[in-house]
Amino acid sequence: MSEGGQIHELDPTTVERIAAGEVVERPASVVKELVENALDAGADRIDVTAEAGGTERIVVSDDGHGMSERALRRAVREHTTSKITSIDDLEAGVSTLGFRGEALHAIGAVTRLTICSRAAGADRGTELEVAGGEIERVDPAGRRTGTTVTVEDLFYNVPARRKYLATESTELAHVTRIVRGYALTDPDVAISLTHDDREVFATAGDGDRRSAVMAVYGREVAESMITVEATDLPDGPLEAVDGVISHPETTRSSREYTTTAVDGRYVRASTVRDAVIDAYGGHLGGDRYPFAVIDVSVPLGAVDVNVHPRKLEVRFPDETAAGEQLRTAVRAALSEAGVIRTGAPRG
Ligand code: ADP
Ligand code: MG
Repeated sequence: MSEGGQIHELDPTTVERIAAGEVVERPASVVKELVENALDAGADRIDVTAEAGGTERIVVSDDGHGMSERALRRAVREHTTSKITSIDDLEAGVSTLGFRGEALHAIGAVTRLTICSRAAGADRGTELEVAGGEIERVDPAGRRTGTTVTVEDLFYNVPARRKYLATESTELAHVTRIVRGYALTDPDVAISLTHDDREVFATAGDGDRRSAVMAVYGREVAESMITVEATDLPDGPLEAVDGVISHPETTRSSREYTTTAVDGRYVRASTVRDAVIDAYGGHLGGDRYPFAVIDVSVPLGAVDVNVHPRKLEVRFPDETAAGEQLRTAVRAALSEAGVIRTGAPRG
């Protein structure tokens, strides 16, 4: 607190940068917002490239429906979204991934942002450049239908935040986890990640979950995968559980290889992750965790749509029942695969 405890009114630029920090925490949060926008635009293919862990440059390119010049100018303004018109839409449930209309604006406030887009049916594209929240340039541009967003120099104008970025390899690990999450839970979309000119992975977008697992984790992991497919579950908030889990001999020493989705939407759901791991019982070695991609279906409106910008966690109405449903589904899959005998746990 300043001397004398005086209260100052913050200037609008400062307020804007603080607000931007709610959305833009690190390179991975930028990547998350841009990939979600690309998915919302109906992309079949999304290519993500990053330099220096994303701190120097992030490029997300999609073949979605694109934006007209007018839509593009609107998109970078505050609280503009094509996805909802009022708070009632939020309560009715949202099918698109983003719905707050602040991501691009926030990113533009704390980076150098360039968006090149061509709307489906338009005869040309538009390139727009924003720096420190101001539109600096709008030009016609040749490109095919879709959008390419380039984000450079994260926090160049907020040195206090730039200082808190982790090492490049840690930031890259966060970026990788995010892109991997979408690639694994959206096998219909071809998603690639390239870092410093080296391809990290590229999925085919052929709709096959195992093929996505193979692209992301490699053959050994893909070949150990067991299908989980359950609609006949005990009572609880989940209608169905669908996905793949690894054989208990294919494990790592981290929980981060369990990827979760709700209704096909990649989200963090620790209830789901923990129940999946728990279902293996004593079959996992000490401190060993499986690979898993698990998508759960819930009735419309049953899940707390997290309105917080970072959408960190999904909560279920009855977490205990949801956990039991998942354990049932995963044990059934392990038993079906001959890995465990249900009713007679080992040891
Ligand atoms: P939100 O996603 O919450 O609507 P954003 O700030 O992320 O807010 O995006 C603002 C708007 O810009 C979106 O509603 C959408 O109309 C448009 N937009 C953003 N990214 C894309 C994209 N990759 N393709 C097409 N339209 C996009
Ligand atoms: Mg968005």
